Amino acid sequence: MDIDGNTKVTGILGHPVRHSLSPLMHNTAFESLGLNYVYLPFDIKPENLEGAITAIRYMNIAGVNVTIPYKEKVIRYLDELDTEAELIGAVNTIKNVDGKLLGFNTDGMGFVESLKYDLGFNPKGKNMLMIGAGGAARGIFASLCSNGAKSVCVTNRTSGRAKKLIEEFSDRFPSVEFSILPLDSLLSSNDNTLKYCLNSTDLLINATSVGMKGDSLTLPLNRLPRGVIIYDIVYNPLKTPLLVEAEETGLTTQNGLSMLVFQGALSFKIWTDADPPVKLMKETLVKKLSR
Ligand code: NAP
Repeated sequence: MDIDGNTKVTGILGHPVRHSLSPLMHNTAFESLGLNYVYLPFDIKPENLEGAITAIRYMNIAGVNVTIPYKEKVIRYLDELDTEAELIGAVNTIKNVDGKLLGFNTDGMGFVESLKYDLGFNPKGKNMLMIGAGGAARGIFASLCSNGAKSVCVTNRTSGRAKKLIEEFSDRFPSVEFSILPLDSLLSSNDNTLKYCLNSTDLLINATSVGMKGDSLTLPLNRLPRGVIIYDIVYNPLKTPLLVEAEETGLTTQNGLSMLVFQGALSFKIWTDADPPVKLMKETLVKKLSR
């Protein structure tokens, strides 16, 4: 990588960022296309967030990804939001256009792209069962609704959070059928909402952090239709206990790596206008995580 006076700087802004795979993914992509860009980690303490955003303008940084815990907090410092970021209420990508900071959210779109690209699955007219109601779940939820999902059933450990998510979105998507299930009822209960959700599910998404430490949610996988896809957005480990169990049950599975790649690819396109080398980006991360 030849850094010179014309090199455009991008990076990831969060706290912590040392475990991020994005620098490897983006620098490999820039290099493969011969783009004069570099991608750096910026570990920003909470009290320095406003200063860091000001620095993007003053230091002419081309763009950044934003990660935990700043996806919502950065919004107040930006000039404009695109429709998706506005809808989700969180930003994971900033582009600096002549000192004007534009906010985007590519998490949910990255999820939907990965479904289409890897599994040939289009959410239009399909029924979803989503576990989780945190930041990632919000993005996925919004993109599934904007892509024509027929129904979305949400279950979350803190059920009030699932309720709030649905309340916020139901007016915007009147044609989507929403329902809520308490997480602990998934196994024990036999009620009609649960039966309906389980019988009709086309795609089950784990959008919680469970699985990162070898832990697992106990889910009634054997009550799901055989054609269901089990999508775990956790990507490290590549195969969570949920995915192992789903594979053993004979179900189609997908891990979160592809979502990570596609959300990154969409950010890459926003900053450079170039078509991202998605295959290479994915291979690079698989290699890194398989070591
Ligand atoms: P977050 O906002 O902190 O939300 C965490 C979610 O996990 C909440 O729904 C939380 O439930 C649930 N949860 C945590 N511990 C739990 C437990 N022991 N039992 C049941 N539920 C539990 O985090 P996030 O940003 O949404 O990220 C969630 C996961 O997605 C992380 O593993 C992250 O690495 C991954 N992720 C992947 C991608 C990708 O590109 N593949 C992108 C973004 C995030 P409560 O509401 O009850 O706390």
